Amino acid sequence: MSLAHLTTGAEVRAADRAHVFHSWSAQDAISPLPVAGAEGSYFWDYDGQRYLDFSSQLVFTNIGHQHPRVVAAVQEQAGRLCTIAPSFAVDVRAEAARLIAARTPGDLDKIFFTNGGTEAVEHAVRMAKIATGRPKVLAGYRSYHGATSGSIHLTGEPRRWGADTGMSGAVHFFAPYLYRSPFHAVDEAQECERALAHLAEVIAYEGPGTLAALIIEPVIGSAGVHVPPDGYLAGVRELCDRHGIVLIFDEVMVGFGRTGAWFASDHWGVAPDLLTFAKGVNSGYVPLGGVAIGERIGSVFAERPYPGGLTYSGHPLACAAAVATMSAMADEGVVENAARVGADVLGPELAALAERHPVVGEVRGMGAFWALELVRDRETREPLVPYAAAGAAAAPMGKIAAACTSRGLWPIAAGNRLHLAPPCNVADAEVKEGLAVLDEALSVGDGLI
Ligand code: PLP
Repeated sequence: MSLAHLTTGAEVRAADRAHVFHSWSAQDAISPLPVAGAEGSYFWDYDGQRYLDFSSQLVFTNIGHQHPRVVAAVQEQAGRLCTIAPSFAVDVRAEAARLIAARTPGDLDKIFFTNGGTEAVEHAVRMAKIATGRPKVLAGYRSYHGATSGSIHLTGEPRRWGADTGMSGAVHFFAPYLYRSPFHAVDEAQECERALAHLAEVIAYEGPGTLAALIIEPVIGSAGVHVPPDGYLAGVRELCDRHGIVLIFDEVMVGFGRTGAWFASDHWGVAPDLLTFAKGVNSGYVPLGGVAIGERIGSVFAERPYPGGLTYSGHPLACAAAVATMSAMADEGVVENAARVGADVLGPELAALAERHPVVGEVRGMGAFWALELVRDRETREPLVPYAAAGAAAAPMGKIAAACTSRGLWPIAAGNRLHLAPPCNVADAEVKEGLAVLDEALSVGDGLI
């Protein structure tokens, strides 16, 4: 393939701006960085500037860029069988499903493949509605579940606001967030207890018999990296069981090693009825997502047809990437590495940074998944930028993010937070390199308050 006319960053950017329509953006307001290549924990532009990828892109390159085993598996599969419709039985699809079923919690033994996370959420919700015959779905404020018509309405953060009217029946509740407790709790145990009491009340007022499902990210991802207090997920499971509500864990962002366990829910030993996944399942090398289905829902469709499918469900190239990713993760101890890096390096070092920089209000996270919540004032906890800030109001965050990127570190800036999500196989030296840049960037932040 010759792209000889696209050899400089300027040419690539101009070509992009001519015809590519970008997500979540005013098209005239953006100037995307032209990326020339990537390897491991780094990617680089056409001018030779390297970036340490503390975003894992959109939190999906869990085994880093260009992992040789995954690249080879996709190449080998392409040479053998590029594509085949979902109705056929194929070795690589069966093997991907077996490996996912073996890793997922509880009795989630059947895998419905999609092309990504939002489709997985749409199908999980459809399965729950059919299985229960009920119309409504509970979801958290401060959640992200995808961008198609149903999942965007389950989403509980500002990206939902501009969307079409889509699915009806989404009902939102508050999950625990001790730093800004919606329940005025003073400690984790109280936050947990009050959040569960609140959820029980929402269920009672909505009418338990109208609620098909409750969908929750076991560790909330793009809406802020919120680790639930011990007992919360078990309490949610108990409420769902009591009222016949299907429990869906959305592990699209936090599954496959991100939090230092194969699935975030493993940390608390709670299993859902359905689990949605994508991203880390094959590190995003070829689009893949899916729903892992337990017996309660699976049995509904044993004799009755499931009304849903996708042309590329279980695409062989994506499944080959998934088999290679999961195998490499197991062989190379990638999940254990994420757990260790979180406990021994990122956790303590970020806490030390927070001590030194008054702009940091709270540090939270686990494994290879952390957020710094930035504030104007530590006492009042006034956010550095207001909720859903845009334009000039968001400028301080833009300055801190630019202080990182201009020094070769690529974090995620979201709201008044910096999210730090390096690949799960990141090396300690790379983490230290990133933390040194972050230290300088937070000094810039201190100067803004
Ligand atoms: N669910 C969660 C928890 C996510 O984080 C995301 C994406 O970030 C989605 C669903 C949507 O996934 P996709 O963008 O692959 O459709």
